[in-house]
Amino acid sequence: MSKKGEIVLSGVRPTGQLHLGNYFGALRNYVKMQDEYNCYFFIADLHSLTTHPDTRELREHILSVTSYYLASGLDPDKCVLYCQSDLPQTTELYLYLNMLAYKGELEKTTTFKDKVKLQPENVNAGLLTYPVLMASDILIHRAMYVPVGKDQEQHLEMTRTFGNRFNHRYGEVFPEPKAFNYGAQLLKVPSLDGAGKMSKSENQYATIYLSDDDDLIRKKVMKAKTDAGPTGPNSEKPDYIVNIFDLMKLVCAPEVIEKYDADFNACTIRYGDLKKQLAEDMVRFISPIREKAKAIREDERALSIILKVGAQKAAENAEKTMDMVRKAMGLKYF
Ligand code: ATP
Ligand code: MG
Repeated sequence: MSKKGEIVLSGVRPTGQLHLGNYFGALRNYVKMQDEYNCYFFIADLHSLTTHPDTRELREHILSVTSYYLASGLDPDKCVLYCQSDLPQTTELYLYLNMLAYKGELEKTTTFKDKVKLQPENVNAGLLTYPVLMASDILIHRAMYVPVGKDQEQHLEMTRTFGNRFNHRYGEVFPEPKAFNYGAQLLKVPSLDGAGKMSKSENQYATIYLSDDDDLIRKKVMKAKTDAGPTGPNSEKPDYIVNIFDLMKLVCAPEVIEKYDADFNACTIRYGDLKKQLAEDMVRFISPIREKAKAIREDERALSIILKVGAQKAAENAEKTMDMVRKAMGLKYF
């Protein structure tokens, strides 16, 4: 298939093991998009410093995320894979965009307010300017599409704001990037306890990781919150039951979901059976990816070459952007 010219950019923070939310919100789209667009996928190590200042596990997590990228089907011959800190042009652009981002709007960002509650002892300036760094990741490649989950929607809006502000202030350099999902609506994979989304660094027992072994997947699914069942026919599903059905939609066959939906409406649903079915379908989905990633992770040299070559390719495009940026800003003096 010949590719469309549009540029795609997205990334994952190396803050822990990847989970079902990362797969369905992000990776699944990456894999499909690499055949259709000019794709750049990176590992957001600088972003992880805003919440994870301890760098001891960073290298391992970078290798792990790269292994899962490849195990999910990303092909370094079809897309560019690189590590964020290997592309210093991003941090230069971050500095310029910081001058166009206002304290008030940054303080209003939902993820910032959430993190302030989570880590009141470490409300650093990097955390406040997280959306500016994310805008730089996207704008450095002049990307049009950004495959992300629903939690990133607001950051994308801010990216458009910063890009437009730059264009108005200094001249047209950046296109307007859009959040992207093949299923049209952006996805939020809920956590098993019904409180929020699955996450790498929060809520670990309510998150299914792609690295979880089969028994752990079964254990976590069986613990998901349910109740004694509906009390009347065709009742409305409580939130935590809607979440379980949402999880089924990711890995179960449509007829399985229809059956349990009908059982729910007829008040004959047996949540124990439903969860067993869901657990087995999760195991069937996750175990091949996990085993592939394990094998890929063993060849550290191959992984490092992929990231190094990727960084060189990313730098070619980023340098073109920075040339335009410096020119537009009048920073090319001689
Ligand atoms: P952390 O807790 O460290 O922030 P995370 O799980 O939120 O980890 P990120 O690295 O922040 O993962 O995000 C990587 C990508 O995965 C983003 O595109 C994000 O929108 C997507 N994503 C993360 N969690 C979910 C989820 N539960 N459902 C759908 N998409 C998700
Ligand atoms: Mg996150």
